Amino acid sequence: MTSPCTYYVTGGAQGIGLGIAHTLLTEGHRVVITDIDGEALDAAAQRLPHPSQLLILTADVSDEAQVMASLEKSVTHFGRLDGIVHNAGIADPFHGPVEQLSLETWQAYLNTNLTGAFLCAKHGAAYLRPHGGSMVLMASSRAIQSEPDTEAYAASKGGIVALTHALAVSLGPDVRVNAISPGWIEVGDWQKPSRQQSVEHRDIDREQHPAGRVGTPEDIASLTHFLLSKESGFITGQNFVVDGGMTRKMIYAE
Ligand code: NAD
Repeated sequence: MTSPCTYYVTGGAQGIGLGIAHTLLTEGHRVVITDIDGEALDAAAQRLPHPSQLLILTADVSDEAQVMASLEKSVTHFGRLDGIVHNAGIADPFHGPVEQLSLETWQAYLNTNLTGAFLCAKHGAAYLRPHGGSMVLMASSRAIQSEPDTEAYAASKGGIVALTHALAVSLGPDVRVNAISPGWIEVGDWQKPSRQQSVEHRDIDREQHPAGRVGTPEDIASLTHFLLSKESGFITGQNFVVDGGMTRKMIYAE
């Protein structure tokens, strides 16, 4: 096992972020999770292993003062910061027809999904630099392909991919920055109890993935762990599509 590091995960109370926190704790690291959902944070505290290695903070990733304060608290608590995962997002890609998309809704997607990443980098870089730290930003396969009525989500994730290479060039060699673009990841089991659902996938759902199945938070967590670690020291500025091959498969309507 590599030596223990301290990692900060936004949106860590549910879904992919909770899966990432679980994997990092299981691998022996110290983890800070931040989220806006207090009920979900309480449930995560019950579910995650190694509570003495875990710090739980309420923070809205789109609020500059809250991002600054939570990063500062993390370093005060654990003494250092080795990696940041910006995972928090308005995860529902569908917002309705673009002709009716309000400026407020557009900005809400951008503020959480994209500005949140900028704020983590702006205020986290100084903590990461001394340790050769690493950032992982959660994009989406929707940065490179779309369904109708997803403009705000797609634009926010496309922005993440561009921000990733810009940051990698600006912050290197001290800090590496990479993006992960998940495809279809089933997070039903990784929600707070009031949102939990057991989802049965159909054959057609599995068959559109060359890997033969829908993804899990663990699929994203294992790559996140690698990208945070020194083993990925020659990798920066990249976007990794983790989608079971779905975006590589041509589908013609019958
Ligand atoms: P989720 O809804 O299960 O979890 C997201 C968490 O982020 C929630 O706990 C929520 O409370 C938190 N959050 C939302 N806004 C926040 C804010 N402003 N500040 C702090 N926390 C906030 O979603 P998920 O499916 O696990 O998605 C996680 C990330 O992965 C998102 O960025 C999403 O866009 C991306 N993603 C998910 C999928 C998928 O299929 N699940 C696919 C591609 C990309």
